Order: sequence, then C-alpha cells, then structure tokens
Amino acid sequence: MVDIIMDWHAESIPIPTHTCFYPFLSVASEYVEESGVTLENLISSAVLERARLRGKGRILEAIRDGKVKKPVILSKAQVETELLSYPFARILVSCIGDKYLVRRYALSEAKSAYEKLLEDSSTGSTGSDTDIINDMSEEFGIRVDFFRLPAEREQVQMPFFDYLRFTANLRDKRWKLVNRGLEKGMVKLRRHEFLRIIQEAMYERIKKDLPLDVPSDICGAIKGYVGDIKKELEEKRKKFSDASFGFESGSEFLVKDPSCFPPCISYILSNLKEGVNVPHSARFAVTAFLLNVGLTEDEIIEIYKNSPDFDEEQTRYQVGHIAGDKGSVRYTSPSCATMHTYGNCVGKDEICEKVSHPLSYYKLKLKLKRKKEQQDKSNKKES
Ligand code: SF4
Repeated sequence: MVDIIMDWHAESIPIPTHTCFYPFLSVASEYVEESGVTLENLISSAVLERARLRGKGRILEAIRDGKVKKPVILSKAQVETELLSYPFARILVSCIGDKYLVRRYALSEAKSAYEKLLEDSSTGSTGSDTDIINDMSEEFGIRVDFFRLPAEREQVQMPFFDYLRFTANLRDKRWKLVNRGLEKGMVKLRRHEFLRIIQEAMYERIKKDLPLDVPSDICGAIKGYVGDIKKELEEKRKKFSDASFGFESGSEFLVKDPSCFPPCISYILSNLKEGVNVPHSARFAVTAFLLNVGLTEDEIIEIYKNSPDFDEEQTRYQVGHIAGDKGSVRYTSPSCATMHTYGNCVGKDEICEKVSHPLSYYKLKLKLKRKKEQQDKSNKKES
C-alpha cells in the first residue's frame, strides 16, 4: 500500500499547479485516479494524514468563513495534498449527511474557486487570460464567444439555453433574460458576469451527487475527523438563531422574539438558514417583516449571508430600499392575502385563523405569551 503512495509522489504525472485550486475539474479527478491512491489509502494510510487533515480543514473553513482558503503552493507534494484533500472532504461531508452542510460546503468551494478564477483570468497566470475561461467553458459544456466592439470592453456571448440553466438560482433582476441583449439565440454578457455564471456551474458540479452513498464501515473508520466539524456546525447554527436576531439572552421578555413569528416567516427564515435559494417575493416579505419588528439592517444582512447568491452590496441596497433609506417609502410586510397569492403562506395554524396579517399574528402571539407568563407567575406565587 505504501508503495502505491510512494509511487504517487515519485511518478512524474504532470500536474499543473493551478489544477489543485479547481479540484472538481475532470482533469483533477483524472490525476487522482491515475495516481493509484485507493479509497483505503485515502482513509487510512499514515502517509496521507496531511491530506485528510486538509480535507477536514476545507470543511471547517467553509462553515466558519463561507470560503475555502487557497494556500500558497510551493511544492508538488502540496499540490497532491490539495488534490487528495478534496475527495476526502466530500467523503466527510457525506458521512455527516447534513443538508445545510452540503450546501454550505459546495457553495464555499465554488466561491473560492470563483475568486481564484477572477485572479487567474486577470493576471493570465495560467496562460493567456482567456485560456482559463475557455477551459472552464469547455469543462462545463458551454459554447462561448469572446468579442470586442470598438471602444467597448470585452464581451462574451453564450447560448440562451445554457444561460437559463446556470442563472436559475440568481435572483437579482439583472439576470432575467428580458434584461439581456439576445441575438440569434445568443445572450451577451460582460466578462465578469460570465465568470459569475461559471461560479454557478462550479457550484452545480461540486454539489452533484452530494451526499455520496458512503458505506457505514468507511464512515466508522473516519469518525475521528467528524467531531470537530459537528461542533463547529452546532456553533454556527446557534449563532444564527441567537445572535442574528439581536436577542438579549436571559431577559424575561424578548421583543424580537422568533418563537412568536408566524409559520410563513419561520419557514422562509429556516430556508435562508439552510442556504436554500428563496424566491424574491419571500425575501421581500421576510425583510419587511423583520424591519417592522425591529431588526437592524445589519442583522438582516447577516441572515442573508447563507444564500447561494449572496452579494453584500446588492443585499445592503435592497434591504435599505425596503427600510426606506434615502427618502424612499418604508415598506410594510405583505398581508396574508398577498402571501397566499405568491405561495408564501405556509404552515397555517390556529392563530392564523384570527388574523389577516403576519404582523398581527406576531403581536397576538406575543400578547398571548406575555399573558401566559404572567399567569404562570401568579400561579407560582399562590402555590
Ligand atoms: S395565514 Fe398569514 S400569518 Fe399565517 S402563515 Fe399564512 S401568511 Fe403567515
């Protein structure tokens, strides 16, 4: 077994360094396959401990920072470690089997690769600056043409069916096909916009097949790497549900009390928390609702950070717009009727029968909670 691994280091399989920054590409999987490292080696060989630790590190960085750091590569051994750490991270994520972790991990890998791609395509570090973009387009089966109109920046055009496929999760209206130039079935884009589409393609590729169907004996063999990840995941969840709502923990009564939120708002929030891409109408409803119950714009932006298409600048602008910054109207959250029309009325309960607005639901539930707390207090005194 060790021979195989020593071969992996010794054999002169040509590995372009930049491949390890995009370990989900087919060329990277081919290197790993040709290296002769078996699954058994990967999960148990002492020589590959560094790759396993790096695989675990990839996931911890994804949970903590929403990005997987790209190290400075100085040797071939480091390239190999990076390449092997990726399949190990996929195995770990699959053994944990948490949907939120799958999305967060895939998104973090895609975001980091996108940032690296921006860097590589502007410096031309992997050849000419369009080489890497052409390679990526080919990898994801996108036919792409580059052209430059007189006195204009470089532009890209791609078939509209590819465009629709890869922009399905991008909610901003600038991605809607009606807002794009469409000619003979081709959509025109700026170069940086096309790179953003490549990020979506990378996300799809990384998320594909996750969680893998890993046999239980393999999960058992690597359980020593799982504990820290689960702990980090718990902490992340706790932080989301407490800190991002600005709770005064330990206080007797919470004005921003999510336990009194209506089912529709709780449902949208739980989707945002899990990194599910939420429709525009639901984002508007939850943002207006949270502003109305007293969350700050920063607290709301924090909630959106898990979204697959999170863009801080755009989100700040949109939240500010709903909040009525810069003289625009401050919006109230939509009524139950509107929520129902847009398919956002989910999980109705008995309090819903008494109200016609999510904010009325919240006020009523807070009132009932307060009443019950006072009742419990006086019962306690009496007894
Ligand atoms: S009835 Fe109103 S408050 Fe209740 S879930 Fe539907 S939209 Fe929300």
